[in-house]
Amino acid sequence: MLTSKLPNVGVTIFTVMSKLANDTGAINLSQGFPDFDVSEELRELVAKYMALGHNQYAPMQGVPSLRQRIAEKTKELYGVSYDPETEITVTCGATEAIFSAITCAVNSGDEVILFEPAYDAYAPDVLLAGGVPVYVRLKYPDYHVEWNEVKDAITKKTKLLILNSPHNPSGAILSADDMKALIELVIDTNIVIISDEVYEHVVFDGHRHESMTRYPELASRSFVISSFGKTYHTTGWTMGYCLAPKQLSVEFQRIHQYVTFAANTPIQLAYAEFMEKKEKYLALPDFYQGKRDLFLSLIKDSRFIPLPCLGTYFQMLSYADITDEKDVDFAKRLTTKYKVASIPPSVFYINGDDHKVLRFCFAKKDETLIQAAEKLCRI
Ligand code: GLN
Repeated sequence: MLTSKLPNVGVTIFTVMSKLANDTGAINLSQGFPDFDVSEELRELVAKYMALGHNQYAPMQGVPSLRQRIAEKTKELYGVSYDPETEITVTCGATEAIFSAITCAVNSGDEVILFEPAYDAYAPDVLLAGGVPVYVRLKYPDYHVEWNEVKDAITKKTKLLILNSPHNPSGAILSADDMKALIELVIDTNIVIISDEVYEHVVFDGHRHESMTRYPELASRSFVISSFGKTYHTTGWTMGYCLAPKQLSVEFQRIHQYVTFAANTPIQLAYAEFMEKKEKYLALPDFYQGKRDLFLSLIKDSRFIPLPCLGTYFQMLSYADITDEKDVDFAKRLTTKYKVASIPPSVFYINGDDHKVLRFCFAKKDETLIQAAEKLCRI
């Protein structure tokens, strides 16, 4: 009856692996979400605003106090001003922001450069907009960008580059040198950038988050996307935001208003009040670095070999010393037989590149990590 718009797309790997974990009683280190609860204070703020009657539509762009807080945070952390009236949009999750940004930026036949392994939402959104994904591989095992290859991939039809730092699934981050190289590439072009920075507060070992907003030459052509879910352990509340110069924000909001109209009101008000406690997001690097280091120390005597992880709450582990199985097969066997679920990164490559690594989420209670590591050490 219908001709599929996305004939080659099945259910996402996150749905597949979380379901397999639930069905088999495995510890779920696959889909990225914390297994510890949100702050009680934040939950109470949501309840407070509901009880106070803030239960109707928010303004399409987001409630003013939240946009104000986002503007202040961006200024303080990255030294740049976005006008809360015209340059900030609160969205129903970063996923909606990615959809709205791609939809407004891409016209039929436009080429969009994606870096593989590429988060699974990007290519379907590009295809729905009539665009053509063009893939550049990040270099295994540290997943750095070879800028010469990006240069070679750029054509007259290139409309958009989608960057993601800290990078999911690899845990790589862009450096100041990367940003310099990027500026050189795009400075004399009309190329637009979508910068997926949902793990902006999860950067380790003293590194600085190289937000696109820090660089005027880049910020002026960028949609910068972040996520409250990653920052406040509330992935199920699906709320994010997009920063972009006025001209880009106008087009973004033209789409956003007809996709979701507005994000939910009481949670926006609660975040606005909670964001005043800057120490909450400023504590995240140490908090998650502690989790990463705990996980690494617990598996150090296993046969898994860790890859570098400079940001995000994902650790890639090589299993090349254990088996030759494809990562999808091994991820499934690891779940059903050894009861630890992970994500096989080959699904983030158009040609299914298989480096014999798996992605493990360490946004988990210490006891969960201890139990999972015990199982991994038995393999
Ligand atoms: N961002 C999450 C991850 O990478 C998944 C989100 C989703 O399930 N769509 O694990």
